[in-house]
Amino acid sequence: MTVPLIQISTLSKTYQSDVDVMALRDINLVIYPGEFVAIVGPSGAGKSTLLNILGLLESHTAGEYLLVGRNVKQLSESDRDELRGETFGFVFQDAHVLREDSVARNVALGLRIAGVRLTRQIEIVAALLSRLGIASRANQNAGLLSGGERQRLAIARALANSPSIILADEPTGNLDSKNTHAVMDILLDLNREGTTVVVITHDAEVASIASRQVSIVDGQIGESAIIKDVIRDPTSHSGGEVAAHQGAVRRWATAFVEALSTLTLKPGRSLLLATAFMLGVGGLVAAVGVSESAAHQISNQIAASALDELSFTLPDDAQGPEGLADDESAILRIAHLPGVVLAGVQVEVAASDANVSLLRPNDFDGQPSFDGPVAGATTSFLDLEESKVAPENAPALLNSPIGQSSVILGRDAARQLGVAVAPLGRQIWVAGQRLTVIGVLSRSSRDAELEDSVIVPAQFASMIAHSESETVVRTLPGYPAPLAEAVPLAIDPGSPGRVSVTTVADLRNLRRGVASNLGTLIAIVGGVLLCLGCLTASTLMFLSVSARTPEIALRRAFGASKSTIRLMFVSEGLIVGLAGGLAGAALGLLTVVLACLAQGWEPVESVDLIWQAALAGMLAGALSSILPATRAASVEPSQAIRA
Ligand code: ADP
Ligand code: MG
Repeated sequence: MTVPLIQISTLSKTYQSDVDVMALRDINLVIYPGEFVAIVGPSGAGKSTLLNILGLLESHTAGEYLLVGRNVKQLSESDRDELRGETFGFVFQDAHVLREDSVARNVALGLRIAGVRLTRQIEIVAALLSRLGIASRANQNAGLLSGGERQRLAIARALANSPSIILADEPTGNLDSKNTHAVMDILLDLNREGTTVVVITHDAEVASIASRQVSIVDGQIGESAIIKDVIRDPTSHSGGEVAAHQGAVRRWATAFVEALSTLTLKPGRSLLLATAFMLGVGGLVAAVGVSESAAHQISNQIAASALDELSFTLPDDAQGPEGLADDESAILRIAHLPGVVLAGVQVEVAASDANVSLLRPNDFDGQPSFDGPVAGATTSFLDLEESKVAPENAPALLNSPIGQSSVILGRDAARQLGVAVAPLGRQIWVAGQRLTVIGVLSRSSRDAELEDSVIVPAQFASMIAHSESETVVRTLPGYPAPLAEAVPLAIDPGSPGRVSVTTVADLRNLRRGVASNLGTLIAIVGGVLLCLGCLTASTLMFLSVSARTPEIALRRAFGASKSTIRLMFVSEGLIVGLAGGLAGAALGLLTVVLACLAQGWEPVESVDLIWQAALAGMLAGALSSILPATRAASVEPSQAIRA
């Protein structure tokens, strides 16, 4: 006795929504191998529901379904997915083709999911395409096919895995009579060769070629009619081209290749996604690169100063209003020491002492305050810090008695005070006195802070400031260490210990601290950029899942498991993340080079950054795709392809 292919007893399906809908009620149905069954009935009767349950696209809520003797309720989800791919070939009313993909690749969909070898895929697809008369279209985009051709494609696709059962839901619903006849002929041919066919149709003519008609009304089996006896071919085949059970590696490989092809088929979307990662990773690389270059720059400057600079302060009792005279005499005393090139005096003025403003302080309360540094300087101090001042002779006035109510503005200080345009001759207020702007310092290669500073004569500064003046000495390279001992002796031979000397080498520890703080800060900014990139990409992918629902459902119908769908989406994330990461590395490194060029720094770049960026991109891509992938894996195939 022949074992039934399908055996359904008292099967029901209830959809739970606001009100429960009982789409199928106590259905009994047996289908034998080699039959051609037409399911007919009015719209809404439950035909598609029955077909989807037969095809394992959705599960029933009560009763029993035996597929080739196996109770489908007892199968694991992945076994069901695999069994579906092997046993059934689906043809839907709307052909649901992947429009951007070629006709041949559309036909091969189920074969790829099953992991069939490529050479075998090519053979099978070529044979099917010529059988269905669309061989000449093999390499065309499926979206360009006519309705009839698309339905042939759908049939070819359903046949690729040599299924034992063809399930067709109104396959001729959208076709004209010529194409309807063509499709009927194909189904009949298949049935004659031994394939079991179950077709839902409204069309009496289509139903008439079946060997049996089953009508469904209101979710229940109505009358059935045997039209003709089934001639059972003893060679009737009852098994698909079963590929070896796929291991995890194969599964990944399949998902990865599918992801890659999906990405290349939608280049615009892929580019957009990669751009999100590129900007994120680029920002991170640029941030890290610029901060490293800045740290390198700071360290170079400090190293350079350590080679040829030292500074000293005189004891407290030598200071005071007359202090500067003492500074000057100290400079005279050390001028003859070997290795001394130039010495100048600097006085830091606290903001509260300086009280800088553009207008007389009490005249106008609301005026903007200046919060940059204020420094007293002598002519030679500006000189030894390698400052560029316009006009060139302005610094000379700082030392001259007639220059005591003059001020030189750093370029950025002038901007902050609002006198950047035609500043010379303008007046500003410092510590209650009106000073005339006599020059603008545009650059100071050894002390960049001067570019932000308001620079007053050192003597004026020591009168208004509470802090000590400091004398900076430029030496020949290598002289700071010996001079650190010689200078106090030259200034105060009686008690050299009262002169305190600092060499810049002492600042090296400070530099490390600054550099690492800066690096952390900038890395945080970069990290935030990358998070934004992830968020954008994740949103884009999440939104695209809805648009891709039919595609996902189709893959599921052709045997892809939930985990394969998930892997596919994560692979897409990995691939665009990698591409974006590499592009971001290029963008970031370019930014670093440009930023350093603009600042006159030496760019610090490491090759490591490239693979780190690639890794960061892939990680970001994978992370961003987790949510969209989960959503994609939860797509119900039956709903998406329901006619
Ligand atoms: P047919 O294919 O015969 O036109 P269907 O099988 O598509 O009918 O639908 C049968 C019944 O089940 C209809 O009343 C339909 O509204 C209902 N139905 C189908 N899918 C769902 C669902 N997901 N949720 C609630 N009701 C549904
Ligand atoms: Mg239907």
